Amino acid sequence: MYAEQALAESEKRFRALVTASSDVVYRMSADFSELRQLEGHLFVAASRSPNRNWLEEYIHPDDRDLAQATIHDAIVRKGMLELECRVFLADGSVGWTHTRAVPMLDAAGEISEWIGMVTNVTARKQAEHALAYQRRMYEAILTNTPDLAYVWNLDHRFIYANEGLLRMWGRTWEEAIGKNCLELGYEPWHAAMHDREIDQVVATKQPVRGEVPFNGAFGRRHYDYLLVPVIGASGEVEAVAGTTRDVTERKQLEGSLIDADRRKDEFLATLAHELRNPLAPIRNAVHLLKSGDPTGDNLRAAREIIDRQVHHMVRLVDDLMDVSRITLGQVNLRNERVGLRRVIEDAVEAAAPAIEAGNHRLVVDVPAAALHLEGDATRLSQVFQNLLDNAAKYTPPGGTITLRAELRGDRIVVSVRDTGIGITPEAKARVFELFTRVHPNDSIKTSGLGIGLSLARKLIELHMGDIEVRSEGAGMGSEFIVTLPLAAAAPVPKLDLGNSRVAADTRRRVMVVDDNRDAAESLGMLLEMDHCIVSVAFDGLQALTAVDEFRPDIVLLDIGMPGMDGYELARRMRATPRGTELVLVALTGWGQAEDKQRAMDAGFNEHLTKPVDPDLLARVITFGHSAAA
Ligand code: ADP
Repeated sequence: MYAEQALAESEKRFRALVTASSDVVYRMSADFSELRQLEGHLFVAASRSPNRNWLEEYIHPDDRDLAQATIHDAIVRKGMLELECRVFLADGSVGWTHTRAVPMLDAAGEISEWIGMVTNVTARKQAEHALAYQRRMYEAILTNTPDLAYVWNLDHRFIYANEGLLRMWGRTWEEAIGKNCLELGYEPWHAAMHDREIDQVVATKQPVRGEVPFNGAFGRRHYDYLLVPVIGASGEVEAVAGTTRDVTERKQLEGSLIDADRRKDEFLATLAHELRNPLAPIRNAVHLLKSGDPTGDNLRAAREIIDRQVHHMVRLVDDLMDVSRITLGQVNLRNERVGLRRVIEDAVEAAAPAIEAGNHRLVVDVPAAALHLEGDATRLSQVFQNLLDNAAKYTPPGGTITLRAELRGDRIVVSVRDTGIGITPEAKARVFELFTRVHPNDSIKTSGLGIGLSLARKLIELHMGDIEVRSEGAGMGSEFIVTLPLAAAAPVPKLDLGNSRVAADTRRRVMVVDDNRDAAESLGMLLEMDHCIVSVAFDGLQALTAVDEFRPDIVLLDIGMPGMDGYELARRMRATPRGTELVLVALTGWGQAEDKQRAMDAGFNEHLTKPVDPDLLARVITFGHSAAA
């Protein structure tokens, strides 16, 4: 009876608990094998009669082991059980619950049953999962970004620093977090600057952006940073977050762009100057020629001036075009086996006027043995001529220029040394750069575009060689040293050109077509002097009408003409009865590879760039092509 009363009491208490609680309340047998009762806010299905299958019915399979282990532990301890696990909710879905159960002990101290309570924590768990997912996402970004990311609290102490920043500081999280800039070894001005910026962000709630150099674990680098407010729920700034990007490379690039731009401007000024220089004497000479009756001497002098200055201008323009062609990889070397002596003799001959003008002494020391190079003789001579010209140019009058060649192993080493103004150590690194002139304009009287050495280096590299400069400094003279591979193979027998020479004796019939009358007529006169029979036409139609009657061997055609242009005229000439026998030569101002290709496609045999080198023209007229004999 007493026991029954006690049970009724217990039942009453249980009921009260069920009513008061917003949770589910249950009773379990002492060993948890039987669920005796489960009632309350039934997010899980109620169970009023004893249920021995509760584990399968309520608990998610993946959490059953955990549940059993926790229960076992609580039974052994006779203490509170606490478990968070997935369960099947009343609607059949899977949810999360948190349960607590306390053991009821009898007089002997044994567990008589358990009273437990289950809270539905599905919503909290889902929020936790979403949060954890978000955190993993942010962590993945922040840990892997090359940028530095960090957060200061309102005391200006770091409360967050990402991996990148810790690495840049060379510190661990523990060493860095909680410190301010000064304590982390920032220079005082730098720390003070950030203090001001943090205050500004807090006061204005506006971002602050800046750039600053910093000496970190990766050396001195340049950083661009953005500080933004972290706004709390109340609308107040609760922290200041920052991201910083290493912009060292971009800065360097900007620097080199600015530098390149400056050099381009300088170059244009120099180019204008260089092109104007020869124009003045040409204009004077023309004036002389126009003046009433020039005497024989004047006439010759004027002619020589024009010849010399035009030659100079042509060389300038050729150099310019060479540079662009080499830069675009469009230079084809006419490689052959060539004697070192020939290359050097040609260079010395070409540089002789400059050396004589400077009143310099030239010493040439080339081995007597026949040494051969594999390469383009004209281009190689051009390089050495350039070095000799520079030596003459950058040496005060009366200096000594020494050209010495020797064999070292399987390399030929040629050095050009002068006793001139020399090159400072800083400038040495730059002399081979395009458009670089390392002596300021007014320090010397000489001129140049800063192309020669850049061109020389590119040409030498195309020949698998290298070029370097030595100088003890300003006023100590300079030495340029070219190293080239020695040609390996035995000499090739010389081609017999007998037939071509015979052909050269016959008089050629040449038609010149150019809408520029002066250009057409002067070229015609030149060809007549070269024993050609010449006919001149000033437009396409005139040329087409004349071609049958005149029966030219060769037609020299300007490309840019009004009405019918050179390409069209070439196609039409090819279509005439004798068209296939004609040698068609394009004369244009455009010398790029694609211009040549276009001319070839239109049916031209040759493409020559204006102003045409008279020797080259003579070769084309004689042999029908420009290839060197
Ligand atoms: P340029 O002579 O047309 O200016 P280069 O490319 O040939 O161009 O040379 C570049 C610069 O190198 C020159 O402007 C000059 O300052 C320097 N330089 C070249 N050769 C010598 C030399 N032999 N002695 C001293 N300086 C030289």
